Amino acid sequence: MYCSLPPEYVSLRRSLRELQDLDFALSLMYWDRQTYMPDGGAIARGDQAATLQRLLHEKATAPELGDTLEALRDFEDSQPYSSIEASTIRIARRDYTRKVAVPSEFEARLAAHQNVCYAAWAAAREASDFAIVRPALEKTLDLSLEFASFFPQAAHPADPAIDAIDPGATVGQLRRLFGQLREPLVELLGAIEASGRSRDDTLLRQPFETNIQQDFCRKTLERIGYDFQRGRLDETMHPFTVSCSADDVRLTNRVIPEDLSESVFCSLHEMGHGLYEQGLDPALRGTPLAAGTSSGMHEAQARLWENTIGRSRAFWECCFPWLQGAFIRQLGKASVGEFYSAVNVVRRSAQRTSADEVTYNLHVTIRFELELAMLEGKLAIADLPDAWNAAYARDLGVTPPNDREGVLQDVHWYGHRIGGQFQGYALGNLIAAQLYETALQTHPEIPVDLERGRFSTLLDWLGRNVYRYGRKFTATELLERTTGRVLQIEPLVDGLTRKYEQVYGL
Ligand code: ZN
Repeated sequence: MYCSLPPEYVSLRRSLRELQDLDFALSLMYWDRQTYMPDGGAIARGDQAATLQRLLHEKATAPELGDTLEALRDFEDSQPYSSIEASTIRIARRDYTRKVAVPSEFEARLAAHQNVCYAAWAAAREASDFAIVRPALEKTLDLSLEFASFFPQAAHPADPAIDAIDPGATVGQLRRLFGQLREPLVELLGAIEASGRSRDDTLLRQPFETNIQQDFCRKTLERIGYDFQRGRLDETMHPFTVSCSADDVRLTNRVIPEDLSESVFCSLHEMGHGLYEQGLDPALRGTPLAAGTSSGMHEAQARLWENTIGRSRAFWECCFPWLQGAFIRQLGKASVGEFYSAVNVVRRSAQRTSADEVTYNLHVTIRFELELAMLEGKLAIADLPDAWNAAYARDLGVTPPNDREGVLQDVHWYGHRIGGQFQGYALGNLIAAQLYETALQTHPEIPVDLERGRFSTLLDWLGRNVYRYGRKFTATELLERTTGRVLQIEPLVDGLTRKYEQVYGL
């Protein structure tokens, strides 16, 4: 029995705290670069970030850290699995083991190549010509396979990259899950089209003053419960959320004059990420537990507020009068019902980011399958554009008009790596649906509360059952604890079917 904390644990906590400080400092630099930094600051900022990055890597892979973690095995075993002590050691060991498996020399080579490939992608996109980026992407594929080789126990070359952000998830499991998901979604899309009914969203495409849009978004987030004493909302071209500590969580939003839905749903999405970070148990601070547990779980929090809630009738029964008050000229004559239909139009398109709830996951599963085929050596980079277009024709019934709107639309493969880039989005939608279904079983009054502007019923439930745990439990553990089941497709498929049968009067 341990009556007081062993000195190795105290020393571990100190090291982890320093790692976190460096990490948060890098986050702040990133936020600044994407928001207010003058262009002239780019070169110096790049050098500063590289220095911090190097210090962080040295500290995170120091042999002494490994020794300390080894020395703490008995102490870890003596503590309950869900205690902060055992969880901190478990997650710190997991992070350490992953980091030391990859040589620093490789990390440097990959980072240098990522810059080259990103620049080639930007040029290729500009010219809408995949051939420009093809040689660089071929090298990315080689490097992605080299990365996988550092984890020889992996069953599939994509598994190490997936495990890095969605711990425990594997290609085998995801293939099964996404395979089950594809058919009912294709069917639902077909049924919507066969109905011959169309829904109109021209209401959203009028000139909307950008300052009023951002002001509405900010007030809505505040009403829902986003804590602006511990957060911000700024504008950017490519929206993201960063945490500079649990008391400083910064959201960004994209506001464009001719499309109201962009700022409204983007801010709700980023708020979901931010609420998760703000909702962490304060006792986890300074430990590696103080963050969202996986890419899928984080995305689930974002998509739950953006779609499950943000595109629900109940939400707009409450919020539409506020929005109408802000845009009398544009929306003064519209009804809640018209607005609700407008934000739920289902449309076959070649674009992932603006896709509706029904087609979105098809965009994701197409990318997931293509990256697996590339890593398995079944798809050559030269054949990627054709394979992309064929998959779009098969699943979505559209052919992208050119490379820019096809294979070049997402930065992921070109700026990062091949493998592990897309599964989090579809996992997020599945997890969000399963969590919401459980929340409704406990609190059937949630929709009525939403209509009345009482967001706390759902927010508190998420805080108690998801947010506060941080990385203490994996997404799989958390889902089983909270919903009593492993991840299933039914909550999402049933929820979407019910909703769109009603929206389209099927
Ligand atoms: Zn997101």
